[in-house]
Amino acid sequence: MSLLRRLLILSASLLWALPSHGAPALPALATAPGQATFGTDRYVEQIHGDLPIVLTAPHGGRLKPAAIANRTEGVTDMDANTQELARAVAAEFLQRTGHHPHLIASHLHRVKLDPNRDIKEAAQGQPLAERTWMEYHAAIRGALAAAVARHGFAFLVDLHGHGHPIARIELGYALDAAQLNQTNAAFDAAELITLSTLRDLHARVGGKPSDLLRGPGSLGDLFARGGIRAVPSPQEPQPDGNPFFSGGYTVRVHAAAPDTPKVDGLQIETYRTGLRDTAENRARFARVTVDALTRFIAARYAYTFPAKP
Ligand SMILES: [Zn+2]
Repeated sequence: MSLLRRLLILSASLLWALPSHGAPALPALATAPGQATFGTDRYVEQIHGDLPIVLTAPHGGRLKPAAIANRTEGVTDMDANTQELARAVAAEFLQRTGHHPHLIASHLHRVKLDPNRDIKEAAQGQPLAERTWMEYHAAIRGALAAAVARHGFAFLVDLHGHGHPIARIELGYALDAAQLNQTNAAFDAAELITLSTLRDLHARVGGKPSDLLRGPGSLGDLFARGGIRAVPSPQEPQPDGNPFFSGGYTVRVHAAAPDTPKVDGLQIETYRTGLRDTAENRARFARVTVDALTRFIAARYAYTFPAKP
């Protein structure tokens, strides 16, 4: 970055820090709902929201700056079109409600940074990648805190793409296949819900954990009834022996951990053909997703989504 640009950014941030009265006329701070702000070098994009929903897209970035060495361990393939998928879901929320979810996306290709891992595996010692990782997770924390302050809760949806053989979405609540393969009675008795991304919601509403997770009216049920197969759901309660993504670093740290009160959510792993391959299919997924999330949340939180005026 040039010295001039550094000085411009510094002076702009100093001016923004002034109280509004008496401050010189400046462009409005770009934090109104629907407006985007960017981290250093525009590697992280945050669209500010006013709904309790926080959408994240860690693996949809395409930038491969030479200043960051390629990662040499772990998965380096991107989840194609998942950033576009997140934007389609945000657009559908806006269309329905007149309001914006929060959206945080990494623009770095996964070969440079994997924001859905701990910083060591994510950045593999590259300082610019480490900085981007910190900005990405700070943006998520900021969005979740803003949603909790405004609505009393936040719901995090981390969007991914899988290449597994079965064309169904995999709902990651930070519970693995062995945990989900248990019967409902065993699952409930083991209180596994307290390890999951729905721990705060369950503490609030009670009831059978298996109902909340995969019973009638669960997110999996709402997706399935909207025409998108989902596991876990009443229709497909368990991964059984099939490959299954249980939820990664992002949902585990920001939603399932004991120090994330009032934050729930899940990871959604999507198949490609018929779901995220074309703009038309992404729009259809967005409609089903917004249907599912608004129904699930309206039924379980003291919250009513606004209707577009
Ligand atoms: Zn992914």
